[in-house]
Amino acid sequence: MPVYVVLVGPPGAGKGTQAQAISAKLGLPHISSGDIFRENLKLQTELGQQAAAYMNRGELVPDDLTIAMIQERLSRPDCAPGALLDGFPRTPAQAEALNEMLGKFNGSVNAVPYINVPEAVLVERLTGRWTCRAAGHVYHEKFNPPQALGVCDVDGSELYQREDDKAETVTRRIRVYLEQTAPLIAYYQAAGVLMEVDGTQPIEQVTVDLLAAIAKATE
Ligand code: ADP
Ligand code: AMP
Repeated sequence: MPVYVVLVGPPGAGKGTQAQAISAKLGLPHISSGDIFRENLKLQTELGQQAAAYMNRGELVPDDLTIAMIQERLSRPDCAPGALLDGFPRTPAQAEALNEMLGKFNGSVNAVPYINVPEAVLVERLTGRWTCRAAGHVYHEKFNPPQALGVCDVDGSELYQREDDKAETVTRRIRVYLEQTAPLIAYYQAAGVLMEVDGTQPIEQVTVDLLAAIAKATE
């Protein structure tokens, strides 16, 4: 049966950083809804253009567009073993839609690590984030700097600061998270699949804790 792991946590919790670290170890493709939207924007697809206005304002892209996009992505052959989801679901309606689509793949949400980081830490993490143009690899100017300034360690591509990582948009995104996404914590707790991980620890320790929690949930 396929295995589905959903990373939950506020913007800046470290979901992308951790997904990049554990995806290969778990043998699951890393599916980031934000990365897919940004890729569509780069390619100037209709979806990318529809999503851009919401993203730049720090709001959520409407559920119907987001759900259709993820359904298409999860039905590709590389998701046969399951997936490591990062940034989806972000609303209760998306969580319900995910359950329904995974049922069609004979699967369900197996583990939901919640990377817990207090709000006060998030702004500095996001305003100091640098992202690689080619593949979305993530760095921080203070907490996880690249070896060479402005250049991705993994693929040598240019690093840039996301439009929505400006301080004012970050504040908006955190508010949107608290209003629309945080209810998923109780939702997955009630489903018995939530596991909390302390996201204020050094990146490597968060990875160790995450892998241990996921192993326990999927053994
Ligand atoms: P998310 O995907 O949850 O929005 P990211 O993985 O992009 O978060 O991380 C946000 C920023 O915080 C990045 O600049 C990243 O380098 C940094 N970061 C991630 N995890 C940690 C950590 N445990 N300690 C300090 N900084 C971190
Ligand atoms: P992220 O890369 O996860 O920080 O997401 C960046 C932006 O993409 C968000 O602020 C939203 O505008 C949009 N986005 C990403 N995932 C979703 C989702 N599941 N539902 C709605 N909007 C999303």
